[in-house]
Formats: sequence, structure tokens, C-alpha cells
Amino acid sequence: MKFFYLSSKPNSEGKFEIHERECNLIPSAYDRDYLGPFNSGREAISKASNLRAETILCDKCGSDNYVAAFRNLKRENQ
Ligand SMILES: [Zn+2]
Repeated sequence: MKFFYLSSKPNSEGKFEIHERECNLIPSAYDRDYLGPFNSGREAISKASNLRAETILCDKCGSDNYVAAFRNLKRENQ
């Protein structure tokens, strides 16, 4: 379970970025809204899309999730 935040300011493409709490690209406390705990960035996006029309998972958080999913997959195969 990870804790996700939604930026309250759009990025250069006009989209609101979703970050994990540990992400070093996360906006300051004044520029983000707490989304809640989720198992994956995908779940966080589906919640965030109820709040903002244009949401996107941060590149860094997205790649971290990919690595974690890949590790889990390997473990299941062993
Ligand atoms: Zn991030």
C-alpha cells in the first residue's frame, strides 16, 4: 500500500500529476491534495479522475511501480 497525492497545480501540459508520498518530485504541501492509500498508481488515477478531468501519473512514480510489479512477477514464478 502506498500513499498518493494529486498536484493542485497543472503541469506544462495542463495535466495534474499524481505522486507517491516518497517521490522527490512531489509538490509542496500547499500545492497537493491527499488522495489516499492505493495498491498501485492505476488505482490512484481512477480516484483522481473523479476530482480532476486531466490527471497523469508522474513518470518517476510510474516507473517505480513498473519495477515493483516486475519484481512481484518474478517472485511468483520461482
Ligand atoms: Zn512522482
